[in-house]
Amino acid sequence: MCSNLDRLGTTVVVSSEVRLRKGYSAHGWVRYGKVAGVKIMVSEWWDQEVELLARRTRKQVNSQPVIFETGYGPSGLPHLGTFAEVARTSFVRWAFTKRFPDIPSRLIAFSDDMDGLRSVPENVPNKDMVRLHLGKPLSSVPDPFGIADSFSGHMIGRLKSFLADFGFEPEFYSSSECYYSGAFDAGLLKLLENVEAVKAVVLPTLQPETRVTWSPFLPICEVCGRYTTIVSDYHPQDAQISYACSTEFGGASGCGNTGRVSVRGGKVKVGWKVDWALRWMMLGVDYEMYGKDLIESAVISGKICKALGVEPPVGSFYELFLDEEGHKISKKIGNGISLDEWRSYAPDDSILYFLTKSPKKARKIGRELVGKTTDEFLLLLKQPTADNELLRTMMAATAPGICRKHNWNWSSEFDFSLLVSLVGALGIDDVAAVHSFLRDNPALTLAPQDDAFAFELVQFALRYDRGLRATRLPDAAAHELSIGEIHALETLLQRLGDADFTAADALQTMTYEVGKARDLGLREWFSLLYQALTKNPTGPRLGTLLMLLGRERSEKKLQEFLNSAVKSSEKDEIST
Ligand SMILES: [Zn+2]
Repeated sequence: MCSNLDRLGTTVVVSSEVRLRKGYSAHGWVRYGKVAGVKIMVSEWWDQEVELLARRTRKQVNSQPVIFETGYGPSGLPHLGTFAEVARTSFVRWAFTKRFPDIPSRLIAFSDDMDGLRSVPENVPNKDMVRLHLGKPLSSVPDPFGIADSFSGHMIGRLKSFLADFGFEPEFYSSSECYYSGAFDAGLLKLLENVEAVKAVVLPTLQPETRVTWSPFLPICEVCGRYTTIVSDYHPQDAQISYACSTEFGGASGCGNTGRVSVRGGKVKVGWKVDWALRWMMLGVDYEMYGKDLIESAVISGKICKALGVEPPVGSFYELFLDEEGHKISKKIGNGISLDEWRSYAPDDSILYFLTKSPKKARKIGRELVGKTTDEFLLLLKQPTADNELLRTMMAATAPGICRKHNWNWSSEFDFSLLVSLVGALGIDDVAAVHSFLRDNPALTLAPQDDAFAFELVQFALRYDRGLRATRLPDAAAHELSIGEIHALETLLQRLGDADFTAADALQTMTYEVGKARDLGLREWFSLLYQALTKNPTGPRLGTLLMLLGRERSEKKLQEFLNSAVKSSEKDEIST
């Protein structure tokens, strides 16, 4: 299992021998102890965030609710990062309420649906239709899936549905609602009155050639409906600006129209960094997390707030999720493992559990991680330590939807990875059949109270295995075996004939000895056996796997593998 230190906010290098004690302090839950004679104290990452926020809220004299905000740009399908922001912010909010039970709080999930469409995402249908609307606000682009009333409406709907499944209940706000309803009007006027102060913050951060035409305001052309406009004059006394539709935006060109519009009521939006500041100011945001790629934006937005006499919120960046090749995951490409894929391979609880880990560490998101995380989640349910209790309480309190699905207990002696290997080895794509194999197997302790959850896990393991098969090379089974490997397999088959299949340890030792006697690299030898038994190069402890499969099935698998390998090597000899 991962170290509990994985959740701690501060990076402290602590070897596994160092034992830190745990206690509740003025800083929330902390671990403390001595490392090389030096006293250290570290706390859970969410408590560290609360500490930062507490410094801000102590300064506030009124008893307004503390506002937590998360942001989503609905220019593509929501991904794990989008979901993570809501989950993690909810953890911080939970910890805040625990420490300051008398201070009310709200969680706002804000979607910038008036952002302009800059490009056509790769993972949506009807791309040609979408392309016609480049440069328009996302809320004015039709839904490529043909379901919702707009492009952004669809994307936001997907996010809402994910969040509802988990039981997260943020208050949903969108740019179009805030701008069109006039809720942002006062802030827009303030920006217009202080346009020079805003420019003084932003212009030095821009390339010289863009400084000349840059304006905090983005009028929507009244003729073509696009952001292909340049502001030509400001009229703060009338709350208006003049513009010319004469530039490019997202590959679309201006129509040549000129006009003068009010900054009120959604006819004009403000550009990204100014928009973030406007939102903080008008909603009174106290806390917001954002990806590492937005650190600079957050600094500039904070300066804009200050230029307008408003204290920016406490901000905290998180590291980005990467795909297995180490690239940032993108909602427009759909690389890395998608939220839908994860949810089809493992229970939702495992996603939530994964997000309790420290956000300050970059993590690669792939199928392997899903299996490993699910194992860890089962351990969390199984081991009633104080740490695990705290985690369970937080997860259940922030996302009550996940506990509704199944009994939050696990006492059986196997984990998800073992189940995936078993499913691969059995080669039966049938939930009921695998489930009864588990129930009837004397070598496996499936606790009666775990039965329903186990059935669910089998469904996940089957989909997981199907996913593995889909990505596996078709000829992975056709192995070229060395003479030594062939002899070792033959010896193993002989010895399995009279082995005790109720003793996993003895089976493990025997397998090891057979490989060693033939001078095989043990890593390769075990990998070969996993291939033979489960078609995957890795798996659980081999002795356990053999015991669970039983004599007949194990022998059959190994014999088939040996036959096919021998046959393919004979074919090679004939053809050469
Ligand atoms: Zn136009």
